[in-house]
Amino acid sequence: MKCNKSKPINDHLLRSWIRCRRKAWLEINGDKQKKLWTAHSTLQLNHQIDCFHNLAQKSYGIGIQACEEGKNIAYGIRLKYPLIKNRVIKGNLPILSKTTGESIWGSFSYQPMIARQGKKVTREHRLILAMTSLLINNLQKYQVKKGLILHKENETLKVEKIRLTDNINTELIESLLNLERDIESKTPPPITSNRKKCTICSWRKYCGAIAIKEGHLSEVSGIGAKRELLLNKIAINNIEELAKIKHYKLKEKLDKFGTQHGDISKQLTLQAQSQLTNKAIKLKSTKELNELKQAKGFLIYDIESDPDIKHDFLHGFIRIPNNFHKEINLKEIKYSPLLNLEKDTENSLWKRINRKLNHLKGIPILHYGETEPISLLKLGLREGASPHEIDAIKKRFIDIHLLIREYWCLPVQNYGLKSIAEFIGFEWEQSNTDGARALLWWRQWKKSRRLNNIYSKNLNSLFKYNRDDCIATLMIAKWLIDQE
Ligand code: SF4
Repeated sequence: MKCNKSKPINDHLLRSWIRCRRKAWLEINGDKQKKLWTAHSTLQLNHQIDCFHNLAQKSYGIGIQACEEGKNIAYGIRLKYPLIKNRVIKGNLPILSKTTGESIWGSFSYQPMIARQGKKVTREHRLILAMTSLLINNLQKYQVKKGLILHKENETLKVEKIRLTDNINTELIESLLNLERDIESKTPPPITSNRKKCTICSWRKYCGAIAIKEGHLSEVSGIGAKRELLLNKIAINNIEELAKIKHYKLKEKLDKFGTQHGDISKQLTLQAQSQLTNKAIKLKSTKELNELKQAKGFLIYDIESDPDIKHDFLHGFIRIPNNFHKEINLKEIKYSPLLNLEKDTENSLWKRINRKLNHLKGIPILHYGETEPISLLKLGLREGASPHEIDAIKKRFIDIHLLIREYWCLPVQNYGLKSIAEFIGFEWEQSNTDGARALLWWRQWKKSRRLNNIYSKNLNSLFKYNRDDCIATLMIAKWLIDQE
């Protein structure tokens, strides 16, 4: 075990620790080869650059010299100071904004500025602002009172002011001390029970393998942090114990915490049994899947979106001219990507989609999850489709995710498209891709398009990814029918 006493703590490590204590430990002590690349940090960085670019300040400079010269904006300052005993804290301050005050440079001072994605200001934003402000206080010898957070709302740059109170500063110092204790520990903190966080973490594969090996309850689909605590209270601490208990006994025990917990007892025990034995459990006879079996062909539909601005930028379709009774030749599949360049160009998009749907009247539209029908029907309503048209489209949707949940209990940690497709043996042509990667390709392509680079590798990668999402949905539908 290496000694980490000398390692400085930086803003990046603090962010990791706020998200998951174990993540910070792994960043310092883990085997970096086990990390996966994720698109999230690149998306965050690009978003930050984009926001800062939009500030359009005339008076700016780089480094501490910019502060000495009293520029309105100072970029790229790196500071370090032992905010806690015997430990240097390093801060990478991408941008400082000039404000009132009395600093060592004159009758002005500087306050920190960060950019955020997502819907709201979180504890992470507050603590990072507090950390950077304490480092600036030490540099300018004047106390920062507010920090600024930039974010984009419908392409408009907004600035929020956050008061940096003594309470936030105290919380920061306590957090730094706890972080220090965690990274110095010989063993890593436990795997978080809020496993939703793991889906975007670069250590997810590593932690997932350990969670399976150790039989963590958080591995069981349907068990989040709260439900895990309840199960621990009734002395169920791992998958094996959950798989063994009779579901009616579990119901009796869980009902005490509310019937919403008792009601899913059977589902939980079956799920644990499936995951423990790695076997699929059929819940219902698939004879009832007539709608799928008798269809004369299919349209498969998948959307890619930018959640920050609620923009569905790609509507992808593949068409299967007949049923799946025969083997599907993936090379012959016809894929049609319909791009929606800007939110305000929906009229032509709706016309193109409507033409496609009318051309293939009566053919069911397969999709995975509720996003696609919700988005398409809303688009139709915004573009003036009649109630009759909307109703007709609504009737054509078949949600493959709902069917999988209704008919099968599968040995998977969640019932998302990727997990189920992986279970049936389907692989995306491009490895280690997800919605975040698709969003990054989209944003990079949009930027390069402005520079007249209309056809690019990014757009091709995005189409390939979306096509594979459609094919994965199709293959799961075929798997459902094939399991007679
Ligand atoms: S994968 Fe999950 S448990 Fe592991 S470090 Fe990341 S967030 Fe924490």
